[in-house]
Amino acid sequence: MAEFKPVESQITADTLVVGGGIAGMTTAIETAEVGKKVILLEKNPSIGGRVATSFQYFPKLCPPTCGIEINLKRIRVSPHIRVLTLAEVESVSGTAGDYEVKIKLTPRYVNEKCTACGECEKVCEIERDNEFNYGLDKTKAIYLPHLMAYPPRYVVDPKSAGDERMKKCAEACEYGAIDLDMQPQTITAKVKALVWATGWKPYDATKIDNLGFGQYKNVITNVIMERYASKNGPTDGKIARPSDGKEITRIGFVQCAGSRDENHLPYCSAVCCLASMKQATYVREQYPEAEIHLFYIDVRSPGRMEDFYTKVQQDEKFFFHRGKVGKVTEKTDSGNIVLFAENTLTGEVVETEVDMAVLATGMVPNTVDAAPPLETELDEFGFIAPDGDKGVISAGVASRPLDVAASIQDATGAALKAINVGRRS
Ligand SMILES: Cc1cc2nc3c(=O)[nH]c(=O)nc-3n(C[C@H](O)[C@H](O)[C@H](O)COP(=O)(O)OP(=O)(O)OC[C@H]3O[C@@H](n4cnc5c(N)ncnc54)[C@H](O)[C@@H]3O)c2cc1C
Repeated sequence: MAEFKPVESQITADTLVVGGGIAGMTTAIETAEVGKKVILLEKNPSIGGRVATSFQYFPKLCPPTCGIEINLKRIRVSPHIRVLTLAEVESVSGTAGDYEVKIKLTPRYVNEKCTACGECEKVCEIERDNEFNYGLDKTKAIYLPHLMAYPPRYVVDPKSAGDERMKKCAEACEYGAIDLDMQPQTITAKVKALVWATGWKPYDATKIDNLGFGQYKNVITNVIMERYASKNGPTDGKIARPSDGKEITRIGFVQCAGSRDENHLPYCSAVCCLASMKQATYVREQYPEAEIHLFYIDVRSPGRMEDFYTKVQQDEKFFFHRGKVGKVTEKTDSGNIVLFAENTLTGEVVETEVDMAVLATGMVPNTVDAAPPLETELDEFGFIAPDGDKGVISAGVASRPLDVAASIQDATGAALKAINVGRRS
């Protein structure tokens, strides 16, 4: 069982997987299911990565619970996987087959006795921004990261751990699970192979100053749309205009927001066209009569995803406009958003007024903030170079922009590479 017990100062495994998103989970499971020991290390309080934050995922439009829950079950029952959350690699030394890794564990302030009963949360008087919902709402300072969180255990916001008022939460816990004196810990792991599955973050839309994000309330991004649509999101799943809660009659999706643009992200993130089409289905579900306008340079729906594109095109009120949105303004009287797009074939500028707009921003690899160790080669955009002959093995979006199915395939390949490192050593 992948149980949670106090962590010893020295641990060993065949493979260390860094990043507990769908890719890291897959690598860990595939490695463990051939009998190899794995440490799965996640910097957040729970695993699941960005997929856990989506409402549904294409092509089948299933909720993340489908894919993630199956994997969580495989992790839960595995005798070979050790999950460490709130954990980050501090340093790595050694060579393939014999690495020594220093891991920093940030205190959770809640120990393994937690049953997630929620009594502590009820009495908690302090609030914090909920980063799971991109800061759109609040949680208590002691919180369960989200409904599917694994480990299913509360966590205390480190900024509040020293606050006198938190003692009330500790007193409310009949299991003695809250320990506000918990200290950071550095442990050592001896492993044979290292897999980096650190995934992505959304491109910072405030940098695209012509598209109005951060300036107009009714301009949001695609990751925020996932949270609006989610039942455990800031609006309990209701998609409405952020400024005033107005129902949607016309909505615009702005493709390549910052992507394929020398000033921002020069590359294509491969999933944004399909993600917007998927989000259009969320809107259609709630508003059968709403007009949906999608502005694109060209639509990318590779392989069998073309079927999904063909299906949404049958919606008579879903309008595809060939054109890059170059300017966004707001009508001060109504709060409506006006999108100005130039048709890339005819040069004609089209003006479209909508209730709200969704910017399809791309994926930036987290490796740009924290480079992998051992002189791992990165490509010009910060993804782990596929042919690098030094450093760690990559999996999922740490390697390149990928959808979930492709991330899983990539992560399975990474598991095999890691097993081979172990066999050769
Ligand atoms: C708006 C949008 C919608 C999308 N919708 C779909 C969809 O419907 N269908 C689909 O197939 N794909 C979709 N995708 C793509 C999908 O999100 C990715 O394929 C998926 O997240 C890749 O998983 P991953 O594990 O590689 O990365 P992530 O999901 O980013 O997971 C990486 C994990 O690593 C952790 N981590 C990061 N750095 C460190 C560190 N230094 N130490 C420890 N842990 C770390 C992170 O906290 C995270 O848990 C969408 C993408 C976007 C932008």
